[in-house]
Amino acid sequence: HPVNPVSWLDSAVRHTPDAVAVYRGAAPWASYRRLAGRVGGLAAALRGPMGLAAGDRVAIVMRNLPQYLEAMYAAWWAGLAAVPVNSKLHAREVAYILEHSGARAVFASDDWREGLSAATVPVIEAGSREYDRLAASAPMAASPAAADALAWLFYTSGTTGRPKGAMLSHANLAAMTQAYFASVDEVLVQGRLLHAAPLSHGSGLYTFTHLARGAAQVIPESGGFDAAEVLELLERHENVSMFAAPTIVRRLVDAGMASGARAPGLQTLIYGGGPMYTADIRAAMRVFGNRFAQIYGQGESPMTITALSKSHHGDTAHPRYAQRLASVGIAHAGTEVAIRDGEGRDLPAGDVGEICVRGATVMAGYWNDPAATAKALRDTWLWTGDIGALDADGFLTLKDRSKDVIISGGSNIYPREVEEVLLTHPAVAEVAVVGRPDPEWGEVVVAFVVARGPRPPVEELDRLCLERIARFKRPKDYRYLDALPKNNYGKVLKTELRKLAAP
Ligand code: ATP
Repeated sequence: HPVNPVSWLDSAVRHTPDAVAVYRGAAPWASYRRLAGRVGGLAAALRGPMGLAAGDRVAIVMRNLPQYLEAMYAAWWAGLAAVPVNSKLHAREVAYILEHSGARAVFASDDWREGLSAATVPVIEAGSREYDRLAASAPMAASPAAADALAWLFYTSGTTGRPKGAMLSHANLAAMTQAYFASVDEVLVQGRLLHAAPLSHGSGLYTFTHLARGAAQVIPESGGFDAAEVLELLERHENVSMFAAPTIVRRLVDAGMASGARAPGLQTLIYGGGPMYTADIRAAMRVFGNRFAQIYGQGESPMTITALSKSHHGDTAHPRYAQRLASVGIAHAGTEVAIRDGEGRDLPAGDVGEICVRGATVMAGYWNDPAATAKALRDTWLWTGDIGALDADGFLTLKDRSKDVIISGGSNIYPREVEEVLLTHPAVAEVAVVGRPDPEWGEVVVAFVVARGPRPPVEELDRLCLERIARFKRPKDYRYLDALPKNNYGKVLKTELRKLAAP
């Protein structure tokens, strides 16, 4: 079974049984031998007393805990599929995903005791006596599913509607892992992967990279992102890679600036999942140096459509450096990217259209949703719903999500372009731009601003826009907020902002 995460765990156990597989904070939590033993025990419980059959789904509703990794691997060890659920969702949203996925068992963290009290399938609480008893069962022999079987049922965060379950196979996960090795980061055998971002999302998908090399995973004691804790862990561990959304990178940079911490143990910080503004990545490199790589992906082709490698970040002598730094990089080997117009025609370099993707990482479709599948997957291509352009060298620039594009007076306005301009004002900490329905223009631009210190006068922001962008792209209205509404993955919730912007 060469293309199954189980084979990587298997090989790590055979080659480095005593190496630390998981750290909790700075302290070793389990060796590979112990991890595999407990994974095999949980797998035996799932397939034995709990009565699950090959192909069944097991949901995981947990903040970041070492047991997350055990539950995930137990599912695969037992030939089942994992359904990672964002643990910050509302109980009703979680219930929807459990129901929709038809999960037959749930692994949960203790904060979900009440939220899952009405669940109709068994709930096993991580770290409970019952959990540890199951993990101590006599381990079963690994019984991994076929390469094209469902491995990871990945519900989109639903920032633009109801969550849909992207069906990713073991082969998808293997292809994603190969892409990581090829163009994102070098995994050192003694290296570490720090999970400060939720394991239910991209960070969880990256676990294989380190597992496949017998390297270790580090789970913060806080169970999530805490800037001071991350900086501390980056003093205690060496050769650390980690994933973070751009908004989280900004918090880390602010904390680094305030405390003087320079994260000596950080090897690579991989960011993506949302727009990284050029002002922010430049600030990040000033504080932490050239230790950044960017990825662009979506649940339907997770973590791997394009990457902007560390060398691209450091290639300051290149004539198109600034332009490249503002891009999301080049397609991964084995992944094709095309820009298409509304009729499905390929557009030449430089032209803006919908980003389409084809390759080994692209999902098989959405779970129980043929209509959405037919819309997203057409003629072997994934239509991402993102708008962008390729340059002559194959660097992809993302304009925005098609759903976020504002059409005012018949012209398209990409919120990201306006946000980039406003962020250059020193008193602007964060900004998000949305459209508001308008009887005269169709839509007008509204900017939500979080100030760094005292709020800058609106006239100053307007003047900045006049200097840099076309008049019709200027916000007609500015609203100050103390913080932008975001989900657990650090994504700005534009649907919320559109509600706030309503006249
Ligand atoms: P839903 O599809 O339900 O609205 P979601 O958008 O949060 O949920 P994800 O798969 O988590 O679903 O997000 C993928 C989207 O995030 C991409 O389609 C793209 O718009 C954006 N994105 C990802 N990486 C980057 C990046 N490097 N730069 C800019 N945007 C990015």
